[in-house]
Amino acid sequence: MANILIIGAGGVGRVVVHKCALNHDVFDKITLASRTLSKCELYQKEVSQRYNVDIGIAKVDADDIQALVTLIQKIKPDIVLNIALPYQDLTIMEACLQTGVDYLDTANYEHPDTAKFEYKEQWAYHQRFKEKGIMALLGSGFDPGVTNVFCAYAQKHYFDEIHTIDILDCNDGDHGYPFATNFNPEINLREVSAKGRYWEDGAWIETKPMEIKKVWNYPQIGQRDSYLLYHEEMESLIKHIKGLKRIRFFMTFGESYLTHMKCLENVGMLGIEEVEHNGCKIVPIQFLKTLLPDPATLGKRTKGKTNIGIVAHGIKDGKEKTIYIYNVCDHEQTYKETLSQAVSYTTGVPAMIGAKLMINDAWMKPGVYNMEQFDPDPFMEALNTQGLPYFIKEL
Ligand code: NDP
Repeated sequence: MANILIIGAGGVGRVVVHKCALNHDVFDKITLASRTLSKCELYQKEVSQRYNVDIGIAKVDADDIQALVTLIQKIKPDIVLNIALPYQDLTIMEACLQTGVDYLDTANYEHPDTAKFEYKEQWAYHQRFKEKGIMALLGSGFDPGVTNVFCAYAQKHYFDEIHTIDILDCNDGDHGYPFATNFNPEINLREVSAKGRYWEDGAWIETKPMEIKKVWNYPQIGQRDSYLLYHEEMESLIKHIKGLKRIRFFMTFGESYLTHMKCLENVGMLGIEEVEHNGCKIVPIQFLKTLLPDPATLGKRTKGKTNIGIVAHGIKDGKEKTIYIYNVCDHEQTYKETLSQAVSYTTGVPAMIGAKLMINDAWMKPGVYNMEQFDPDPFMEALNTQGLPYFIKEL
C-alpha cells in the first residue's frame, strides 16, 4: 500500500489519477497537486463519482523548491510523480532529494530558454540520490518509456546483439480541429520544429527539421508519412543497448499539420524569446498555447488510433533477424475508460505502472535510472493487464 503524490493536473495527469484510483489496492492514498486548483477539483470529482475513491488535492507551484518541500512534508508520500512539464524536473527532483522521497517523470529536463532537451542535468543527480537511498525513474511514459522497455525486452529475449533500432510513433487520431496538439502545445511544438538528429556509428548526425521522410506501414492503421525527429530516449538507449550501430526516431504528421506549423513558424509564433506587445512582454509560443485547444479537452472528439513501437534488427545465434514490437491504442476506448484521448492515455498508464513497480520493489534501487536499465518482463506483463497490450511480429 502506498501514498502517492501526483504533480500536474493536465491531460496526462488526468489519466494517472484515474489509473491510480483503478489500482487502489496499491495506491491507497492519492494526492493530486497542480498550479490551478480548479483542474485538481475537476479530476477529484470525476474519480470520486466513477470509482468511489477519495483523492486529496493541493495547489503548488512546482517551480518553487521550498513550496514543494513543504507540500511533500505535509503529505508524506512514498513517491512523487512529476506529470507537470519538463521545466519542473529539476525542482521536483531537488525537493525529493531534500525530503528523501522517490521520484518518477515522463519527459526529460528542458530549459525554458533553450529548445534543447537532454538527460545531463538529471543524470547528475545519480550519486546524491544513491547516497540518500532514494530512486528516480526517468521517462516513464510511452516514448520515452514503453519504447525503452520494448528495446530492453528485445535485447533480453530476441537478440544476442541489436544493431539497429527504429522507433515509430504514429498518431492517426482526428480531433476535428484544423490545428491542435495532443499534448502540451509548447513542449510539442518545440520538439517537432527543432532540427532532426539520429545516431550512427558512434556519432550524432543532424538533419534539417523534417528533412528525412519515410513511409511506414503501421498495423491496424496503414501507410503513413513519417518524419525523422530527435527524441530523448535515444540518448539513454545508445548507452544501454549492446552492439547498437544506429538508432532513429520517426513520427507521423499529416500535410495539414505541417502546413500550419510552417506558417506559424514563418510568422514567428513558435518563438521562445520575449517580445514587446502593446507595452507587455509575451513569449509567442506561450501565447499560441493560450489560443490552441487544451489537449485535456480533446478526448471527447478524437477518433482513430495510435500505433507506437520499435523495429529492432540484429543477430541471434549467428543469424540476422528483425522484430517489430508495438501497441495500438484506440482514442474512443481510452476516452470511455479515463475521459482522455490516447496520447495522454499511452503516457499516463506507463507512469502508473512505473510507480507500481517501484512501490512493490520489482524496480527499486537507489540512484537515477532510465527504463531500459530494469528487467522489462514485469513492465511488459503490466502493459497487458493495464490497457496497453503489445504485439510482437518477426519481419
Ligand atoms: P498539460 O499542459 O496538459 O499539463 C501539464 C500540467 O502541469 C498542467 O496542469 C499545468 O498546470 C501543470 N503545471 C505546469 N507548470 C506547473 C508548475 N510550475 N507547478 C505546478 N503545476 C504545473 O501537459 P500534458 O499533460 O500533455 O503533459 C504532461 C507531461 O507529459 C509533459 O512533461 C509532457 O512532455 C509529458 N509527455 C510525455 C510523453 C511520453 O510518452 N513520454 C508523451 C506526452 C507527454 P496549469 O494548467 O495550472 O498551468
